[in-house]
Amino acid sequence: MPDNEIHCLRQRLQSHAQQLQALTAELSHVRKIFNQASAMARIGVWECTLADGCLSWSDVIYDIFDLPRGSTLSRAEVFQLYAPHSRAELEIKRAQAIAECGSFSMEAEVITPRGNRRWVRITASVEKEGELPLRIFGMKQDITEEKMHLDQIRELAENDMMTGLSNRARFQSVFPGFCESNTDAPAGLMLIDLDGFKGVNDTFGHAAGDACLKQVAERLTSVLDPAQIVARIGGDEFAALIGPSVSPEEVEAMAWRLVEALSRPLIYEDQPLIVGGSVGVAFTGPEIGPTALFRHADLALYAAKGAGRNRVCLFDTKRAATIGSYRRAG
Ligand code: GH3
Ligand code: MG
Repeated sequence: MPDNEIHCLRQRLQSHAQQLQALTAELSHVRKIFNQASAMARIGVWECTLADGCLSWSDVIYDIFDLPRGSTLSRAEVFQLYAPHSRAELEIKRAQAIAECGSFSMEAEVITPRGNRRWVRITASVEKEGELPLRIFGMKQDITEEKMHLDQIRELAENDMMTGLSNRARFQSVFPGFCESNTDAPAGLMLIDLDGFKGVNDTFGHAAGDACLKQVAERLTSVLDPAQIVARIGGDEFAALIGPSVSPEEVEAMAWRLVEALSRPLIYEDQPLIVGGSVGVAFTGPEIGPTALFRHADLALYAAKGAGRNRVCLFDTKRAATIGSYRRAG
């Protein structure tokens, strides 16, 4: 080969080597940025070869699962780290994605070998060769903090800060469904309003009133244990929804036990405070929507107040009137 051709080839080789060096440097830089972003977002990549079940993860996923980076992964062992409800969902979605050569995403709960509970968002896609699934791959992101924040927001949005009971908004969100799903068997709505509560505020101050409300909430949750929800729906007004597995007679008996519990003195700074409670009860039935049911229970509560307080009144759907048992609690 003539010298000039050799020289020319050498120059081209040199130029290719320089280009390769630049690309390698760029790739390493991009990889560094990717690793930083991936670590910050707690997102890692994973893949599993379907023929041999061989699983590989990037470092972040090892960290999420509290496993030593680069250690050999057994799919069966990794599966055991998912909480049972997530494992079941994952198995179904994975099998379906493989069968259809499709993809899925889900949020799964993980319990790591160190006992840490984490939430992971999994995305997965199946790659095929011809018509056959070849491998499944995707990303896993640690969303534990995101979940915690959402839970806190939900807690704030649905709970009454003072008593820890459900708040009015939560009650209103479940009440229509409660009426709709219990048209065949009677389910109970109990409305409770404290008797003489203003007097506590007036005599002992607002802080004493607040302490009373907290103790009332404890008594409500204890006596109304079978209730699906116990909510504070106003200043000294509460509501409870009791499913049809509790008979109407037992709901009434429970309401009387509540009146008795509320008539016992509450304690504020070692002083006994006397309040009391009146209860109105109504039951679901065919063609009784949420507005009607609430009105029925409210009428019954009004009747209990009118009859002297510290008692239970039931709304009688057949007679469209309230009936009260005028025996006193206790
Ligand atoms: P009744 O026997 O007719 O039910 O009268 P009551 O004295 O219980 O008073 P009512 O139910 O008419 O009004 C409730 C009072 O509860 C009015 C308000 O001063 C007080 N209240 C409402 N919210 C709070 C609260 O968060 N803390 C305190 N301490 N008092 C509250
Ligand atoms: Mg009151």
